[in-house]
Amino acid sequence: MDRISLKAMAKINLGLDVIKRREDGYHEVRMIMQTVDLCDELSFVRLAEDELRLTANLDFLPTNQDNLIIRAAKLVKEEFGIREGMDIRLEKRIPVAAGMAGGSTDAAAVFVAMNELFGLGLSGGELRRRAVAIGADVPYCIMGGTALSEGIGEILTPLPAAPVCTVIVAKPPIHVSTAFVYQNLDLNGLERHPDIDGMLSCIRRQDLSGMAARLENVLETVTVKKYPVIARIKEFLTARGALGALMSGSGPTVFALYDDREKAVRAYEELQESGLAKESFLTSFAERTCLETGGK
Ligand code: ATP
Repeated sequence: MDRISLKAMAKINLGLDVIKRREDGYHEVRMIMQTVDLCDELSFVRLAEDELRLTANLDFLPTNQDNLIIRAAKLVKEEFGIREGMDIRLEKRIPVAAGMAGGSTDAAAVFVAMNELFGLGLSGGELRRRAVAIGADVPYCIMGGTALSEGIGEILTPLPAAPVCTVIVAKPPIHVSTAFVYQNLDLNGLERHPDIDGMLSCIRRQDLSGMAARLENVLETVTVKKYPVIARIKEFLTARGALGALMSGSGPTVFALYDDREKAVRAYEELQESGLAKESFLTSFAERTCLETGGK
């Protein structure tokens, strides 16, 4: 095989709890992860030269070591002594610095692509164990679908697919640094924690309204305080028929769940007119990540 194209899907967090801050600076989390049907497209072509070339459709994205794509590719090349290179093209559609694991899902696609291109023969578990070195969300991005994520993100339990619904994803025109949000989280001051176990039961019994009633993310205590536009988007979408709305990851992206597609379409159109969100998408849950679209 000398080329492969993959779709790298975005995620949202249906629930996000932080349990404790570890001495090494990492945070122990309990999160319910969900893939959404919104993706970057990556194509990989094998090169005889020992070189990694990356081009992207957005000028402001780094194309050197600072890009998780290059970091993941170097890690695999070094471990397996691969002397060939790759020409990688990234079409970025997932909002950047948005809490949707855009960089992590691209890195996940690199692991999947190199496993195929260079015939490494690694299982999903073996890929995921290596992926955590690039970022806590990368193992989940390799797995995809609905999953419980614990530890620093490396302990994953696949769950049955969450109930079908229409999803609006809306990113206000601000960039949020994940590091800033975690550093400013006052764990001892948290008044409540998300009902992650209750959410797990709702998913298992396909109870969409129970799930929507339990949407909660402790990182909102930091990001929403700093950027009130996030609360305004949540209110806007809830007032237009959403069963529930929540900030994803460290933000600022908001997602809202609808059981009625027509209501969602109307809310989406009004949201676009409102100017509250810079990027917005009408989408749905998806079951997998890193979908292969072509190769030979
Ligand atoms: P997470 O949900 O994992 O916190 P995020 O959505 O907050 O991710 P990303 O979109 O992954 O954040 O990007 C954050 C920063 O990382 C960007 O500002 C960018 O400079 C850098 N970056 C490195 N590699 C990538 C990539 N492949 N795609 C997007 N950003 C990348």
